[in-house]
Amino acid sequence: MADSRQFDTSMPPHSSSALRVTSTELIHLLDISPDALLIVDREGTMVMANEQAAAQFGYRREELQQQPLEMLLPEHLHAMHVAHREHYFTTPRTRSMGAGLQLFGRHKDGTEFQVDISLRPVLLGDEPLAIGAIRDMSVQRRAERERAQQAEQIRLQAELIDLAHDAIFIRDSVSRVIFWNKGAEELYGWTSQEALGRISHSLLKTRFPSSLAEVDAHLERIGRWDGELTHTRRDGSLVVVESRQVLVCDVLGHATTMLEINRDITERRRLELAAQVVHDETVARLAFLQQILDALPSSVYLVFGADARLLLANRAAVSAWGAAWHIDQPMQEFLATHGIRIFDAQGRPLALTDLATLRAVQEGETVLHHQEIIRRPNGSSLAVLVNAVALDSSQEWQALRQPTGPLAQHTQHADTESVALVVHQDVSALKEAEYLKDEFIGVAAHELRNPLAVLKGFAEMLVYQTARGKGAQLAPWQREALEEIDTATSRLDKLTEDLLDVTRLQAGRLVLSRSPNDLVALTRHMVTQRQMTTRQHTFSLDTAHTSLVVEVDRARIEQVLTNLLSNAIKYSPQGGPIELAIREEVEPHAALVSIRDRGIGIPVGQQAHIFGRFVRAENARASEITGTGLGLFLSRELVERHGGRLWFESTEGVGSTFFMALPLL
Ligand code: ADP
Repeated sequence: MADSRQFDTSMPPHSSSALRVTSTELIHLLDISPDALLIVDREGTMVMANEQAAAQFGYRREELQQQPLEMLLPEHLHAMHVAHREHYFTTPRTRSMGAGLQLFGRHKDGTEFQVDISLRPVLLGDEPLAIGAIRDMSVQRRAERERAQQAEQIRLQAELIDLAHDAIFIRDSVSRVIFWNKGAEELYGWTSQEALGRISHSLLKTRFPSSLAEVDAHLERIGRWDGELTHTRRDGSLVVVESRQVLVCDVLGHATTMLEINRDITERRRLELAAQVVHDETVARLAFLQQILDALPSSVYLVFGADARLLLANRAAVSAWGAAWHIDQPMQEFLATHGIRIFDAQGRPLALTDLATLRAVQEGETVLHHQEIIRRPNGSSLAVLVNAVALDSSQEWQALRQPTGPLAQHTQHADTESVALVVHQDVSALKEAEYLKDEFIGVAAHELRNPLAVLKGFAEMLVYQTARGKGAQLAPWQREALEEIDTATSRLDKLTEDLLDVTRLQAGRLVLSRSPNDLVALTRHMVTQRQMTTRQHTFSLDTAHTSLVVEVDRARIEQVLTNLLSNAIKYSPQGGPIELAIREEVEPHAALVSIRDRGIGIPVGQQAHIFGRFVRAENARASEITGTGLGLFLSRELVERHGGRLWFESTEGVGSTFFMALPLL
């Protein structure tokens, strides 16, 4: 096996002399090589191929045996290859094939792929052969292409980093700058050339929120740090930055570099500072205003928005309400939370929309001297006169609601939202006086009742007995005087009864004893009675109903009808028709009685107040028609306590129509 020695390690790798091998050695060589190997003879016939070579081209090993090498090459290369082969066998040496050329193999399925081939001459016995080691280069080429793409991507990213407005730089493990983008050049004034290699925090004279050591420790522990830093630019000016720093570690976990991105927030800080100053001033002004308001004895508060949210309230307001109304809380919520209720002067619950405060913010109204009674959480009551003034929403106080102001949370509301200033004047003392007055009236009326009854009794007796011829005959003037006394005592009697009713109503002592009553029959009866007292007036009653049953205190409804019928007579001194009608109303289900006269009417200007206590219209006084101004007040109270309504329509000089609606059973 002398020839086999030439095959071993004594052969230099690029020797041009041919290896001399045995076929056994060749087969071994082919089988142990990880590369695809082909052995070709001078004619281009494949003498041997290993498994890797067959697999690379998609064949079984036997299929290549004794086949022309050209079957593994693309057709267009056949001719060129034949020439190359012949040339090679004339000067056989170890070399790579087609150096500088892109070589292609042809797979069994027809696809072509890039290959790299190295050739080595061998002598099998005396037969000159060539071993070709073939490497599929397509994978490598793809990897190269991908590497080129990645490089391009990195280049683009670097350009992007340069485009960023933020200052971005990278520091090595000892804080030396190793990358400095355009943003950093612009923000700090040093070029990349100048900054590279410098210790960043020395270059920028960084002022840390606490210390450099603390930031470093944090970075070490967490891997990133966010915070605010102050840097000094090249020109000496200061710049405040929002800094984000990230620690980059190698595979062994050792810190290698630090990425730092800094955003200039100098302007933002300046504006915030300015806003803070405004805020502080506003807070100071507000505190001063609060002091002044707190010194006032009356309850004062400011509300805004349709739901009357509280802006500001003084100390007296807390005691007036008996509870603390929180800033920004809507009025309704405040009242409901504390169980506070509000009534009118007559003690009727006031609807929310009727409250002076809400009228001012919702309608922009200026409400003056509105009487309201506050029933506090502890059950006590406070009578107040409320003045609510809608304010011009462009006014100075709007500063209270600026974004930086103490009431910043209100900024979600439109700037044009209405605001009202509300002042409560405690009128408990006045109310107390009024109560005492009512008490006095009640006592006086009560005390008057007995002597009046005696007077009336004797006057009636005198008239009656004289008429029957008992006792001495009276002179005509004496009879007239007696009749006058009788009428006057009747009037006084009615007045005292009315006064007593008023005090009973005020004190809530008026009790109704209700039972089902036919309103048609009752009205008819009253009309007949009244018709007997006058010749000047003609009563009529128009109704389609034979009966309409209402559950009422009969005496009280008679009192109301008597008052309305007497007024119709009294206030049409020229006489005329008095037309009554009774209808059935569907919504709400009620019986509606109307009484129409052709009398003096009620002047428009006084119509709104005519149901008040002791209120009389000018024209009634001017016509010297007697009255007390109590009848309508009592009538409305009585009707409303039955769940009904009393109202009127009237034109001065033309006549009036009064309407009474009572709920039907
Ligand atoms: P009085 O009749 O005793 O004055 P009322 O309370 O019954 O008291 O009425 C109050 C006022 O309403 C009257 O003074 C009068 O000015 C006006 N008034 C009431 N009814 C009529 C009417 N039918 N026509 C014109 N004015 C009326």
